[in-house]
Amino acid sequence: MTDNKYDTVIVGGGMAGLTSATYLARAGQKILLIEKNNEAGGLVNSFTRDGFRFDAGVRALLDAGIIMPMFEELGISIDTVKSPVSLGVGKEIIDIESIDDLEKYRNLLLKLYPDSEQDINEVLKSIQRIMKHMDVLYGIENPVFKDIPGDRKFLFQKLLPWLPRFLMTVGKINRMNMPVEDYLGKIVKDPSLRDIISQHFFRNTPAFFAMSYFSLYLDYFYPLGGVKKLADAVRDKMYEFGGELLTGTVINKVNPVNNSITDFNGAEYFYDDLVWAADMKTLYTITDTDNLPGDIRTKFDYKGKEIMDKRGGDSVFTVFIEVDSPPDSFREIAHGHFFYTPSKEGLGETHRTDLDRLIEDFDNLEKKDILLWLDKFTALNTYEISVPCLKDPSLCPEGQTGVIISFLAEYDLFHKVEEAGWYEEFKAEIEQRVIKVISESVYPMLKDKIIKQFSFSPLSIKQRVSSSEGAIVGWSFTEPVPVVNKIQKSDKSVYTPIPNIYQAGQWVYSPAGVPMSILTGRLAADKIMKKK
Ligand SMILES: Cc1cc2nc3c(=O)[nH]c(=O)nc-3n(C[C@H](O)[C@H](O)[C@H](O)COP(=O)(O)OP(=O)(O)OC[C@H]3O[C@@H](n4cnc5c(N)ncnc54)[C@H](O)[C@@H]3O)c2cc1C
Repeated sequence: MTDNKYDTVIVGGGMAGLTSATYLARAGQKILLIEKNNEAGGLVNSFTRDGFRFDAGVRALLDAGIIMPMFEELGISIDTVKSPVSLGVGKEIIDIESIDDLEKYRNLLLKLYPDSEQDINEVLKSIQRIMKHMDVLYGIENPVFKDIPGDRKFLFQKLLPWLPRFLMTVGKINRMNMPVEDYLGKIVKDPSLRDIISQHFFRNTPAFFAMSYFSLYLDYFYPLGGVKKLADAVRDKMYEFGGELLTGTVINKVNPVNNSITDFNGAEYFYDDLVWAADMKTLYTITDTDNLPGDIRTKFDYKGKEIMDKRGGDSVFTVFIEVDSPPDSFREIAHGHFFYTPSKEGLGETHRTDLDRLIEDFDNLEKKDILLWLDKFTALNTYEISVPCLKDPSLCPEGQTGVIISFLAEYDLFHKVEEAGWYEEFKAEIEQRVIKVISESVYPMLKDKIIKQFSFSPLSIKQRVSSSEGAIVGWSFTEPVPVVNKIQKSDKSVYTPIPNIYQAGQWVYSPAGVPMSILTGRLAADKIMKKK
């Protein structure tokens, strides 16, 4: 073999690519993982600034029956702590520590919407029903990560008894696939209450998924040292198995006829198999289909067209704040993972029709019109707040606290603002408003104890990981989703029309996220290993 010829080359060093690379290296393959940035991890990413450790991507992790079984199988161990969640609306804040806290949630909603008791009870009943389904769904370790022929105990005592319950549950889940907004529309009359329950989910999140969150809140964990420790641990395992990682390298051409890819410097890498674990539109844009056999070319071009017509799902705007106030001052208010809505009014049409109109009419609007909309949007939104040093005290300087505040944001708006030439100003306007809203509602110390603040927008996410439209969970709930979206068919999600090119990660299965990226990374590796 020449130096640049590999059994498998994997493009994209996020969790999907890292997983594929590690399993293939473990199987004895000569592999190369190529990553655009100077470090692996993709959207599982933490960084240190001025002594504060911040998480830039996902804030805490959900096992989903996938992460822990993978650790066990690969012999990985990292130190983790539970990452308990608080929920708050206005002055009402509750900590979620056990299933029984559902009652606290009921009381919180009742206090805010006393006239909606019957509807609130209906919502709670739904959540309880769905929690039972979740217990089935994630009730055993994901079989993909188990050596089924070798682990007869798992096969007979867990997998076989679980399968019929799983199939029944999947049927029930599929019946609750309508967007959560529509589902709540049927059982909750008060539009503000509907918003408060659902507005921190991606647009069109299936009802099942959104309503299952109460049980997911109980399962979040946090790696000591920051979320990136997850990616670092898998990367180290890959090295241990002899895998190679090439960072700071962007792939900008795939030549399937030669079985080669080319990077931005013109260097070529040859493969028997390729796993594409990065943005899917990029794959379909940079692949040279000339000279491919006719039927494969037709299928690839057809799939490419289908993909290019769709948009990635929601993105996120995040404000990072260094605060000269001790962690205990935050601990007294809420846990280090906090979903908070300052106003009980709800966003209403602010993040739907109003925003769509704003983007459509952007060229005819003045700056002040956009900022007026922003006032409302920031006042009525729901924020995901994370305080890393409430989970791991070593993550901020003595007596100070790093705070991460984010909300779902629309890529197109930032794109328009950038084209209009006031992107940095717009970011600063958002930062100011978010800090004002949060300091006036829940964290008063933000008002005059801020040392420094900075922010990342959907454009930063696109720039960092080359994710179409800055999406953070692939297609999210685009309709129709151009990839597999049924759990029973997840096995098929990793195929592309070209037989020795596989795909993995957040763009290949919907709904996506860290566990699905890992699962598809593993499935792509399995297909290749099976073939060999
Ligand atoms: C703020 C935030 C909150 C989130 N919250 C959650 C959550 O609560 N739960 C959850 O499950 N998920 C959450 N996610 C989503 C989750 O982090 C991602 O879906 C997941 O990490 C994606 O992993 P991936 O490997 O599929 O893709 P990525 O992490 O995007 O990795 C792709 C990699 O490919 C590289 N790349 C791209 N193009 C090229 C190229 N041409 N050449 C070489 N390399 C390239 C990129 O640099 C990147 O490192 C969140 C994300 C964010 C940002």
